[in-house]
Amino acid sequence: MADADLVVLGAGAAGLAAAHFAGEAARGEGLRILLLDGAKKPGAKILVSGGGRCNVTNERVTADDFFGGPPTIVRKVLRSFDERRTRAWMAELGVRLKLEPTGKYFPESDKARTVLDALLRGVESTGAILRTGARATGIERTGDEFAVALQDGSRIVARRLIVATGGLSLPKSGSDGWGLAAARRLGHTIRPTTPALSPLVLKPGRTLAGRFADFSGITIDARLALHGPTGKPLYAWTDSTLFTHFGLSGPTPLNMSRHLLQARADDPSGGWRVTFGHPDFPAPADAEEWLRREADRNGKRLVSSALSSIFPERLAQAYAGTDGRLAEMDRARRRELATAIAALEIDVVSDRGYSFAETTAGGVDLREIDVRTMESRVAPGLHLCGEMLDVDGRIGGFNFQWAWATGYLAGRGAARALAP
Ligand SMILES: Cc1cc2nc3c(=O)[nH]c(=O)nc-3n(C[C@H](O)[C@H](O)[C@H](O)COP(=O)(O)OP(=O)(O)OC[C@H]3O[C@@H](n4cnc5c(N)ncnc54)[C@H](O)[C@@H]3O)c2cc1C
Repeated sequence: MADADLVVLGAGAAGLAAAHFAGEAARGEGLRILLLDGAKKPGAKILVSGGGRCNVTNERVTADDFFGGPPTIVRKVLRSFDERRTRAWMAELGVRLKLEPTGKYFPESDKARTVLDALLRGVESTGAILRTGARATGIERTGDEFAVALQDGSRIVARRLIVATGGLSLPKSGSDGWGLAAARRLGHTIRPTTPALSPLVLKPGRTLAGRFADFSGITIDARLALHGPTGKPLYAWTDSTLFTHFGLSGPTPLNMSRHLLQARADDPSGGWRVTFGHPDFPAPADAEEWLRREADRNGKRLVSSALSSIFPERLAQAYAGTDGRLAEMDRARRRELATAIAALEIDVVSDRGYSFAETTAGGVDLREIDVRTMESRVAPGLHLCGEMLDVDGRIGGFNFQWAWATGYLAGRGAARALAP
């Protein structure tokens, strides 16, 4: 006889949602639901999320906010449990949310702990049992059941299994890709993984593009664009950008990272280029036109002074270089400066790796999942949810929305399949 009807592996955002909704769907049916986590204290990633405030969801969530698996499948998942459902669920759990001007929802307390505690209480209220310090080391199919081997040498047999062990981001939280390897062994295809929402490391040097460390601490709105071998921009994003001692951080570089890293993983010799530009000037010609107008208006003005109307002082000085009067700039210099303003080519050496990434791009192929219940088409009885799937969202609460939605579908789906 099985030790549990349902085992949920991983008590992060997706696993907590799965255990809660499984418990709710099975209320009164006497199902034994066990939630296991390898960490001594669950929810490490929830606690550090959103700068310790936990950006729970967004005002508007669409399939366009996600990358990886087919948008039609992502859309189906999001429709089953949308941002309104998340807000209603949080209210049921006693978490009051507030909407910020950026469209992000945070707990009114500004504390991620409020969200984690409410989730843990929610799971407990359904009768599901949480066991921490229970790291899984193997999953084996035994007939219709699953045997989960634990690090302490024990084994738990379950009639159904939900794996919600996360991807590879923030490995010190306990999410080190173990679940991806386990899913592969059970027959799943794993789409190539790279960090996503990771800061970008630039090559230092004496040129303008190499001097990022001089501007460390400055935050500006900037446009980053990824160009393919033909030079055409494949992806562009405009938002706030922070210069750091190693390169660039903040929403724009974080959102860009997965596109560059996945492109490089697909084709390392693809000639990928990244440009950094001021958001008011979509193309160098626009910046050139602006410089010309500024020169016509007041030719005696210093170039650095004109630039300080669009850049912080330190950047304006660096862009101006040796400086001089606007009227004295010849055509070649104006064109060169205009290109730097609108599309400065930057040399991205790497990202900062999984230790600094907020999520994982790539993962279990969505086409192998029945997204009505998140049940595996490859290993019936197994459900998968959260970051381990081949879907990653942009900054703004989208990754949690994915974790809640897929956790809901997996939990409810597994409980209904077990119902007598
Ligand atoms: C610094 C940071 C800030 C973030 N901020 C936000 C934000 O504000 N908004 C947002 O939407 N997203 C944010 N994210 C992303 C978000 O945290 C993740 O998308 C989400 O936590 C994924 O949930 P998950 O449950 O799939 O995986 P995880 O949260 O990684 O949970 C997986 C769980 O499984 C456990 N586990 C792993 N392996 C095993 C094993 N072998 N046996 C047993 N247990 C195991 C782990 O201990 C962990 O508890 C942030 C991420 C980081 C790193």
